[in-house]
Amino acid sequence: MGTEPQFQSLPVVTLDGHSGSGKSTLAQRLAERLGWSYLDSGAWYRALTWAVLEVKGDTRDSQVVLNTLSSIRIESNPKGQVLVNGQLLGNELRTAIIDHHVSNVADHVIVREALNQRMRQMLEEPGVQGLVADGRDAGTVIFPDAGLMVFVEVPLEVRAQRRFEQNQRKGIDSNLSDVTAALANRDARDAARGDAAPQITKRSRLLDNSNQTVEEAIGCLLEWTAKNRLVR
Ligand code: C5P
Repeated sequence: MGTEPQFQSLPVVTLDGHSGSGKSTLAQRLAERLGWSYLDSGAWYRALTWAVLEVKGDTRDSQVVLNTLSSIRIESNPKGQVLVNGQLLGNELRTAIIDHHVSNVADHVIVREALNQRMRQMLEEPGVQGLVADGRDAGTVIFPDAGLMVFVEVPLEVRAQRRFEQNQRKGIDSNLSDVTAALANRDARDAARGDAAPQITKRSRLLDNSNQTVEEAIGCLLEWTAKNRLVR
């Protein structure tokens, strides 16, 4: 009576949402503010794809992908960067070839289960106080016991406009209708993945950051995190 437990559930915040919703930026910043580790689940799929392509494996063959996963050490640092056999992977994961193959890898249910298991182990790592995980199914499948589950909901047109402007800033040649079509395509492929498709659950808090600055959205997430008693 009177004194309530400090933590009522797993010290994990999950941010799910569609491609281009800005969840990675939010997850990364939130993890920094909380002093927790960031888990970028999409980067894990990309890293596994990279590893399969390194051995010239067929990403459409689930057994090949699973064998590759069994033969590598895959881990993430607190900033969410992924390492394969100790090699830090950065730009290698953001190429058109990885973009092309990663959906094949993510389509294999058996691979997803094995990779999810590896990601959950991050919570056991020494020094990890908590995790902010982002993805499509970070809350619904990877960490269903997360103390806070968030769905970042941003309309397709807003996501496309943001991605288009991001490309312009990076000097990448693109046009808005192609960017919109590519995002719509990825949404459709993600939606076809059953349980792993991005979903709003009864436990999800909805964050529509279309008209918010990153700092405003972080303020909102910090408030929810405190309300759910995940931090002191
Ligand atoms: O988020 P990002 O674009 O880096 O994700 C790369 C790919 O991994 C996407 O095609 C997405 O479908 C897949 N993915 C997934 N489940 C997750 C995270 C990403 O299927 N939890």
